[in-house]
Amino acid sequence: MSTTYEVINPATETIVTTIEHYDLAATDATIAKAAKAFETWRNVTPADRGAFLRRFAAVVASHKEELAALEIANSGHTRGNALWEVDNVVNVLTYYSAAPERLFGKQIPVAGGVDITFKEPLGVVGVIVPWNFPMPIAGWGFAPALAAGNTVVLKPAEYTPLTAMKLGEYAIEAGLPEGVFNVLPGKGSIVGNRFVTHPAVRKVVFTGSTEVGKAIMAGCSEQVKRVTLELGGKSSNIIFADADIAKAAASAPGSVFDNAGQDCCARSRILVERSAFDTFMEHFEVAVKKFRVEDPTLASADMGPLISRKQFDVVQTFLDEPIAFTGSAPSGPGYWMAPTVLMPKDAQARSWREEVFGPVVSVMAFDDEAQGIAMANDSEYGLSGSIWTRDVGRALRVARGIETGNLSVNSHSSVRYSTPFGGFKQSGLGRELGPDALDSFTEVKNVFISND
Ligand code: NAP
Ligand code: MG
Repeated sequence: MSTTYEVINPATETIVTTIEHYDLAATDATIAKAAKAFETWRNVTPADRGAFLRRFAAVVASHKEELAALEIANSGHTRGNALWEVDNVVNVLTYYSAAPERLFGKQIPVAGGVDITFKEPLGVVGVIVPWNFPMPIAGWGFAPALAAGNTVVLKPAEYTPLTAMKLGEYAIEAGLPEGVFNVLPGKGSIVGNRFVTHPAVRKVVFTGSTEVGKAIMAGCSEQVKRVTLELGGKSSNIIFADADIAKAAASAPGSVFDNAGQDCCARSRILVERSAFDTFMEHFEVAVKKFRVEDPTLASADMGPLISRKQFDVVQTFLDEPIAFTGSAPSGPGYWMAPTVLMPKDAQARSWREEVFGPVVSVMAFDDEAQGIAMANDSEYGLSGSIWTRDVGRALRVARGIETGNLSVNSHSSVRYSTPFGGFKQSGLGRELGPDALDSFTEVKNVFISND
C-alpha cells in the first residue's frame, strides 16, 4: 500500500481525510484471499448464507446516520439522498438474502434418466464502482454476487471511497468470514485493471463511463471473463400535450438535476409536444427557480455541488447553446453550479447528443408521436426515459417504441431493487437488480443421471 490520497469535500473544498491506496501487490494478495474464501463461502448452507446477508443488512441499518453523514461529506449528496442510499443498501441485501434458498435449477424431461440443472457460483467477482452513487451501485454488485455464493473484491471510485470502506468493516462486524467481501480503494488503472487481468477474478461488474466500459469489455475478452456493464445515458422525458403539464413540469427538475445531474438515468433531454411547449416552459421555469441548491447537510436541499473541479470544468463546456433560464447556486468554495436549461438550435448540438453528467438539460419541441419516438431514439444510448400522457394506448405504444431499458409513465422512477435495471445499445450489457441479476452471477450446470 504505497500512495496516500486526500479525500475532498466537494461542498467546501476541504480535506475530509487521507487514505491509503492499494498497489498491485496488495491487490493481488486480496484477490488471493478472496479466491481462498470462495472455497468455504460457496459451501455455506443456503439458509446460513441468507442469514449472513440479513445480519450484514442489520449492521448497515444500525449505522444509517453515520453512513449518510459520510456520504454527504465525501460526495456532496443531499441529506435526503444519502439517507435513501443507505436504505437502498439495506433493502438490496435483504432482498438478496432470500436468494440462496431460491436459486432453483430445472428438471428437464429426457430419455433414460433424469436431467437437472444447477446454478453454480463463478468464483471471485470484481465490482468497479463510480463516484456518482457510491453506496447503491456497490450494493447492486456485491449483494447478489455474495448471495449466489461468490466472493467479492470491490474498488470504489478514487473520489468516493469512504462509505465503501465502512461497508467492508460492517461485513466483518456482521460475521461474514474473512476474505468474502473485500474493499480495495485505489486507482482504476491499477486496482480496477487488475480485476480485468487477474485470472482468479471470474467476472467484472463495471459502472462508469462508456469509454472505460469498452476497454474493460475488450480486456475481459482475453479470458472470456464474464462482464456486466452499466454505462452512460442520454435519456428523454417526453411530454405530450394531453398530459398533466403542471405536474410534468413540477417533477422535471428532479428527474435531471437530482444528484446535480450526475446520474446515468438523468432525463437530460426534454421533448415537449409543440402545442404545449410554451405552457410547459412557463411552469418549468417556476420549478427550476424553486429547486434548492444549497448546503447538502440541510434536510431542505434538493441539490448539492458537483463532485470535483474537473467535473465542473467538463460540464461548463456544454454551455454553448442558447440558455432559456437557470436556477440559483451558492457562491464561495465548493463546486457549485446553478441548474441550467438550454434550448439547442438543432439535434446535432453536443448538449443534445452527449452525456453531460451535470445540472444541464436541453429542451426541444416535437410535432407528433412518431417524431417524438424518433428523436428519443436518435442516440447511441438507451438507459432510461419518461413518458407523460393521459392516453393509455399512447403510453404503451411509446414505451414499446423507445429503445431503452427503463421507462416510467407519469413518473420518473428508474430504480427499484426488485425490478431489473440496465441499458440498451451503448448504455450497457446485462441487467442488475430484481430476480434476473442472479443469472449474471451464476453459471448453469447441466447434469444427466442415468437410470441404469
Ligand atoms: P470512469 O473513469 O469510467 O470511472 C468509473 C470507475 O472505473 C472508477 O472506479 C474508476 O477508477 C474505474 N476505472 C477507470 N479506469 C479504469 C481502468 N482502466 N480499468 C478499470 N477500472 C477503471 O468514470 P469517470 O472518469 O469518473 O467519469 C467520467 C464520465 O463518465 C462522467 O463525466 C460521466 O459522463 C460518466 N460516468 C457515468 C457513470 C454512470 O453511472 N453510468 C458513472 C460515473 C461516470 P478511478 O476512480 O480511479 O478513476
Ligand atoms: Mg475516468
